[in-house]
Amino acid sequence: MKTIGFACTAANEPLAPFHFERRALRPNDIALEILYCGVCHSDLHWARNDWGWTVFPAIPGHEIVGRVVDAGPAVTRYKIGDHVAVGCMVDSCQHCDQCRKGEEQLCREGNTGTYGGFDRFTRDHTLGGYSKHLVVREEFALRIPAGLDLARAAPLLCAGITTYSPLRTWNVGPGSRVGVVGLGGLGHMAVKLAAGLGAHVTVISRSPGKAEDALALGADALLVSTDADAMAKAANSLDLIIDTVPVKHDLNPYMPLLDVDGTLVIVGQIGLLPEPTTVPLVLGRRRIAGSPIGGIRETQEMLDFCAKKNILPDVEMIAMDQINAAFERLEQSDVRYRFVIDMASLAVGA
Ligand SMILES: [Zn+2]
Ligand SMILES: [Zn+2]
Repeated sequence: MKTIGFACTAANEPLAPFHFERRALRPNDIALEILYCGVCHSDLHWARNDWGWTVFPAIPGHEIVGRVVDAGPAVTRYKIGDHVAVGCMVDSCQHCDQCRKGEEQLCREGNTGTYGGFDRFTRDHTLGGYSKHLVVREEFALRIPAGLDLARAAPLLCAGITTYSPLRTWNVGPGSRVGVVGLGGLGHMAVKLAAGLGAHVTVISRSPGKAEDALALGADALLVSTDADAMAKAANSLDLIIDTVPVKHDLNPYMPLLDVDGTLVIVGQIGLLPEPTTVPLVLGRRRIAGSPIGGIRETQEMLDFCAKKNILPDVEMIAMDQINAAFERLEQSDVRYRFVIDMASLAVGA
């Protein structure tokens, strides 16, 4: 299938129109016309080769909402015209213990990334959702529940599931006390989802100016991390902290905020941290953990939960050719809270 996307051909090049072919359908594949694609911080890292292993030409995008336009003969879950979503992975081994448990993101053989991965049959480099079409095996497509706003749903596929999964892993519900560090794409979803699950939610921010935003998103309180008195008073007051900060940062100020057996879970920074002290860990039986996206079953559960509770990201819609400017603004955290590309702005013949 001939299609078009926006690709970068080198780390210092802007994204530009790129013509390419999606694979012919295998029996269990569906083809989508992509309607919307969210812009994740990982997309920026990938396009700029910040991790050092980008394969060019690269097409980012793993918050994908589309319409089924074709289906292989063995497809049973979807039919032409259905609205579906695809997140950060498009395949996994399907037979290891983690895959059998529905935790494909933790596949023992590694899941196949929606971009930057390698097709398990052809070894072709996978290309993401900044494009007009996508071909994916049906097991890795999610059903968009009726009533969920298609444009605003896109960021749920990475920012949503990345914050929902740890909330479920640590059994957050009514009575839980949840802290959220960082109020960007992931952080604002953590606030909405934790509040939706019935938790008492505290946003922890360096800036007192974030109070109005935090409360508007559904948080119950703002804790200013530069206010030593307030931080001391808040000791032992949280069961779970979701830390969404995507850069190297100091965890030490946050650990005393956890109650006994409390956990700080990292979902943003992938890489080095400054030296954490073990004092609050050992003396308070506290934990530092990490969590990557979520499995397919849990992602569907999250979409259904968001539809039921009317939880949606706050988004700013852009046209495909505004992506380079959007990347620059994303780097300055100048977006509330997620860019979404309206793929109608990209014509196949462009
Ligand atoms: Zn992402
Ligand atoms: Zn597996």
